[in-house]
Amino acid sequence: MLTRFAPSPTGELHLGHAYSAVQAHQAARAAGGRFLIRIDDIDGRRSREEYVAASLADLDWLGLDRDGDPVRQSDRLAHYAAALDTLRMRDLVYPCFCTRADIAASLSAPHGPSGAVYPGTCRNLPARERMRRMAVEPHCWRLDMARAVAETGALFREETGQGLRATDAAAHGDIVLARKDAPASYHLASTLDDAAMGITHVIRGADLIASTDVHRLLQALLDLPVPLYRHHALVCGPDGKRLAKRDAAASLASLRAAGVDGRALAADLRGGRLPAGYSLQMP
Ligand code: GLU
Repeated sequence: MLTRFAPSPTGELHLGHAYSAVQAHQAARAAGGRFLIRIDDIDGRRSREEYVAASLADLDWLGLDRDGDPVRQSDRLAHYAAALDTLRMRDLVYPCFCTRADIAASLSAPHGPSGAVYPGTCRNLPARERMRRMAVEPHCWRLDMARAVAETGALFREETGQGLRATDAAAHGDIVLARKDAPASYHLASTLDDAAMGITHVIRGADLIASTDVHRLLQALLDLPVPLYRHHALVCGPDGKRLAKRDAAASLASLRAAGVDGRALAADLRGGRLPAGYSLQMP
């Protein structure tokens, strides 16, 4: 068994991250398997080196020993570009020039599991216009979801303890696979990395359940191994809302500064016990 914890170094880790890391670590250790760390630093503008160091220090404080050096997404950009190339050659992605404002202004943008569903403005641009604009306009690359789904047919994935589930990637519409400012999106990078790292069990928060349907589709398109998934409940604060990076009181750095024993905290989280005021909830 290989599990992973994949923090984005865009802020301090909080109790929710600790819970997630403890779950993935515990599953691996209980099975005599390996626990890996991946640094999701694909967003060069928001990622900070100081948060990488702080996240690793937090994991040490929790007593979660890891196997091998952390994998960094910023070291794997060429792999993402190669995967995008294969999708491009198969006509499964297209360049999109729309701004956020363009999409927000579109009356035909219904809501999907990951926000507004892209209305398809750039999907069928004439080839010449596409070439001309690509040379001068910033663009992202979107998956042509209808074509992708037509290619793969119905897909299923396994949720640990719950058996097979049908997936519904189509509900997301034409998602972004490579951003204007980064050579891959979370969906593409995470799916490729989980495969390259040999992750057998992806254990992460239930906020990512819908994203998993997209990841399952990418696995089918790119001929990648399919891990098992377990989506756990999310840690909510005293206000009943799930924790966010701005909730300073729940940051692991502040708990550590307040003298909390990290290993004791990890043992509590392993047993599903949270500090007073916090709770676990399924979204
Ligand atoms: N870096 C992602 C996050 O922090 C990881 C998600 C995942 O586990 O796939 O949300």
